[in-house]
Amino acid sequence: KVRVRFAPSPTGALHIGGVRTALYNYLFARQHGGELVFRIEDTDSHRFVEGAEEYILESFRWLGIKFDEGVSFGGKHGPYRQSERRDIYKQYVKQLLDSGNAYVAFDTPEELEAKHTEIHNFQYDAHTRLLMRNSLTLSKEEVDKLIEDGVQYTVRFKIEPGIDVHVNDMIRGDVVIKSDILDDKVLYKSADELPTYHLANIVDDHLMEITHVIRGEEWLPSAPLHVLLYRAFGWEDTMPRFAHLPLLLKPEGKGKLSKRDGDRLGFPVFPLEWHDPKTGEVSSGYRENGYFPEAVVNFLALLGWNPGTEQELFSLDELVKAFDISRCSKAGAKFDFQKGIWFNHEYILRKSDDEIAALFAPIVANNGVNESIERITEVVHMMKDRVNFVNELWPLCSFFFVQPSEYDEKTVKKRWKEYSAQQMTELADVLESIEDFSVENQESVVMKWVEEKEYKLGDVMNAFRLTLVGIGKGPGMFDISAFLGKEETLVRLRKAIE
Ligand code: GLU
Repeated sequence: KVRVRFAPSPTGALHIGGVRTALYNYLFARQHGGELVFRIEDTDSHRFVEGAEEYILESFRWLGIKFDEGVSFGGKHGPYRQSERRDIYKQYVKQLLDSGNAYVAFDTPEELEAKHTEIHNFQYDAHTRLLMRNSLTLSKEEVDKLIEDGVQYTVRFKIEPGIDVHVNDMIRGDVVIKSDILDDKVLYKSADELPTYHLANIVDDHLMEITHVIRGEEWLPSAPLHVLLYRAFGWEDTMPRFAHLPLLLKPEGKGKLSKRDGDRLGFPVFPLEWHDPKTGEVSSGYRENGYFPEAVVNFLALLGWNPGTEQELFSLDELVKAFDISRCSKAGAKFDFQKGIWFNHEYILRKSDDEIAALFAPIVANNGVNESIERITEVVHMMKDRVNFVNELWPLCSFFFVQPSEYDEKTVKKRWKEYSAQQMTELADVLESIEDFSVENQESVVMKWVEEKEYKLGDVMNAFRLTLVGIGKGPGMFDISAFLGKEETLVRLRKAIE
């Protein structure tokens, strides 16, 4: 049975790249009838940020990405927060020490620092470990005494040199690296009695029966180390398969996407607004910017994967069917945030007028207008194809609800002719005389009048628009006047020519 996990560290807001990683895990789990686990990797207490875990969970609730198991979801492989699994890890650290795959090291930060100055490109490994203070160079008695005296130590993984380590990656194929370039990674620190990421990650993936590890490319350099850890534990038979997803790149295409790119170009890199408790800084989120979760999901799904067809619009369920991890690209994916805006526009078009009206109604009310939901829906029907976000509607549509307080100067200059006032006075009389104020009837009556008078239709319509709307753009004129109704239309016409 396929079991995958999303395992964030609660070090701040969830980055949009993390959302994509979670999404791909979700799609992979669903399409294989598998399970998705939510694990919190909080063994680095210095980087812990209050509220981050809740923020991450809230983000996925908003996006509609559901987990089967894990922190806040429960399950039989818990606890799912690594800080609550201390005792489990200790046992496995001991196993590696007993089997000779790991050793205890007492080097202080100062001593390590000194070695780095002394030896160019110093790496703690097979070539240098015998120069250091550890259980390979000290006697058993010395080691026991130091530990007994409460001297802090770390446990390091003993990596054998000269091994070709193969990482079988579902996206990248067989990735081979020489074990010589790896250092003897710290797996455990006595100071906080916690393992480091690497050990906790491997132990948990094993105990939680994870079958596939799908994560960002930034973890590819760690993958050989992880393979060696599985081997050292004797778990190679059940080792998960790896898939390292391509990086998200800056919109320009060069370099890794960062929060600063968002600030610079004006797009969010976080799913929800984030209030950093450490700096007090507030960062904008997709939700607060008016994006639909479906649009964000759709946009992200296509950053690093493509269906091999022209189709771009996918619901989450369609993605589950179409997604194919082997079709993910190795090369980074440019974060084209304009495309994200385009997706939101497409989702506005696909949503019903009623749905959009329900979102627009509070905005109308906030602007002090008391209007029925039916009338708001009518406006939405006329206007929604012109916006990318619901919050762009009010500035475009306010004239439906309130009289223009001023007339756009440029438009007046260009379109209000010396005879416009005269024509509008006549038009007001023409419109006043008709009973049926429907679009069709207004149109035919007005056309007849324009023809009889041999006016230029364009002039009449331009002036008419200016009186009702205040600017030179908008939907069909008679749609507007029909919506406003006879009374309001006449008020606006006559006010304009005063
Ligand atoms: N805790 C790691 C992170 O924050 C997880 C890496 C992995 O999936 O192995 O990205």
